[in-house]
Amino acid sequence: MDIQTYQIQFDQIDFAVNDTEVYRNCQNPYKFHPDGCPNYDNNWSCPPNSPTVSDTRTTLKTYTYFWLLIMEYPIPKNKIKFIQKWKTQKGFARITKNLNDFLSYLQSNHREWKIYYCSQCELCKEKNYSGCTCSNAPCRYPDKIRISPEAAGIQVFDTLLKLGNSIEIEPTSKLLRIGICATDEKVDFTNEIKKYRLYQSILHKFNDL
Ligand code: SF4
Repeated sequence: MDIQTYQIQFDQIDFAVNDTEVYRNCQNPYKFHPDGCPNYDNNWSCPPNSPTVSDTRTTLKTYTYFWLLIMEYPIPKNKIKFIQKWKTQKGFARITKNLNDFLSYLQSNHREWKIYYCSQCELCKEKNYSGCTCSNAPCRYPDKIRISPEAAGIQVFDTLLKLGNSIEIEPTSKLLRIGICATDEKVDFTNEIKKYRLYQSILHKFNDL
């Protein structure tokens, strides 16, 4: 598991102009999703149910340190299209899960940190429910809901561009997953990752018993 971490300043975070822009981004067609993101108004962690741009800005302003956590997946090359697509989807799902597992570990050990995950909330699926309750019933775990930066009005790609990171809008060489942490303490992520690996290896030993 290779997680890159970058410390950034509050002023380097690029926010959407307003909530209308966030909703429009969600509903714009993109690769394999001609009607926009299927999670729009189908998950309590996603727009229009997620925090407004203004709430996110206000929340983040109360913190001192900001960090981007990034996982990359090199897109596999294969002459057979459907194999390449299958491998790419599998790899993307794997880095999404790996990064979110790490972020979830951080959150359970640092309740006071503000953490943004790298996808819509899938907590209910992890707990063997069929999916999110939206919009038939209230969120099952409102204290643990996982919000992504984009859903909260943070323009992740524009933030990366502002930082000088060259990213591919239509990725051909690598896929990225990005989470954000806001803290009031300077974090040694090398040490956090080391502790997480130890925690995982203990967990695996227990599972093997
Ligand atoms: S905790 Fe469950 S109900 Fe709440 S947003 Fe996540 S998936 Fe939906």
